[in-house]
Amino acid sequence: MKALEIKGLRKVYRGGFEALKGIDLSVEEGDFYALLGPNGAGKSTTIGIISSLVNKTAGTVSVFGYDLDTQLADLKRQIGLVPQEFNFNQFETVQQIVVNQAGYYGVPRQLAKERSEKYLKQLGLWDKRNEPARSLSGGMKRRLMIARALLHEPKLLILDEPTAGVDIELRRSMWDYLTKINEQGITIILTTHYLEEAEMLCRNIGIIDAGQIVEDTSIKRLLATL
Ligand code: ADP
Ligand code: ADP
Repeated sequence: MKALEIKGLRKVYRGGFEALKGIDLSVEEGDFYALLGPNGAGKSTTIGIISSLVNKTAGTVSVFGYDLDTQLADLKRQIGLVPQEFNFNQFETVQQIVVNQAGYYGVPRQLAKERSEKYLKQLGLWDKRNEPARSLSGGMKRRLMIARALLHEPKLLILDEPTAGVDIELRRSMWDYLTKINEQGITIILTTHYLEEAEMLCRNIGIIDAGQIVEDTSIKRLLATL
């Protein structure tokens, strides 16, 4: 089963800038996939389109067989998104932010509470559950967004530059956590501009530059050619 299949994806932003020039990507269920590329390559645009936050200009996207154009609600249910910027209400408590996510996915309230406890504990945030999010460190906020993204137990977790601005120790613990949940079966796609991060974590890699996929291979094969 393919977790993600993208064909001929183009994005022309208003004003005429072509951020994606017809990309093809395919990610198998269970994979840990890195989309690697320099700033401005089109990583966030790609992720934005997959998670239906950005309109595409042309091409097709499907997630676990659900088509973005015709099966959007089903597609959305498959995806947990961890965006780059902190996009939660800083005045809500940590647990509220996670539990409130239930409303978007029809997760029953009681189940949402149980899951929020499970994920906040796993991510080391349980002690902070009654604190307003604004009191958290940057690394904690990032982990909060991971807990929130997992609440509806998506099959595909997408993270946009998850360790940007995170110190090395915390980065390691995030890497460990992502590796663990991937081993438990969740497919993960992350964007990064660090080859080391892709190397540490991922099985397969797509390299994107100026809106085009320039390489799509396994990490092993990539490292063998360097
Ligand atoms: P969409 O086609 O997804 O609706 P738009 O082209 O309407 O996206 O752009 C969304 C917003 O981002 C606009 O207000 C636009 O002005 C702004 N924007 C413009 N240039 C950039 C840029 N280089 N990086 C990020 N945002 C930009
Ligand atoms: P990355 O995530 O790889 O850094 P992005 O997908 O954010 O790249 O951006 C790809 C290109 O599209 C960049 O040149 C960026 O300036 C441009 N861009 C991004 N968002 C917008 C927007 N809303 N309007 C116009 N141009 C944009």
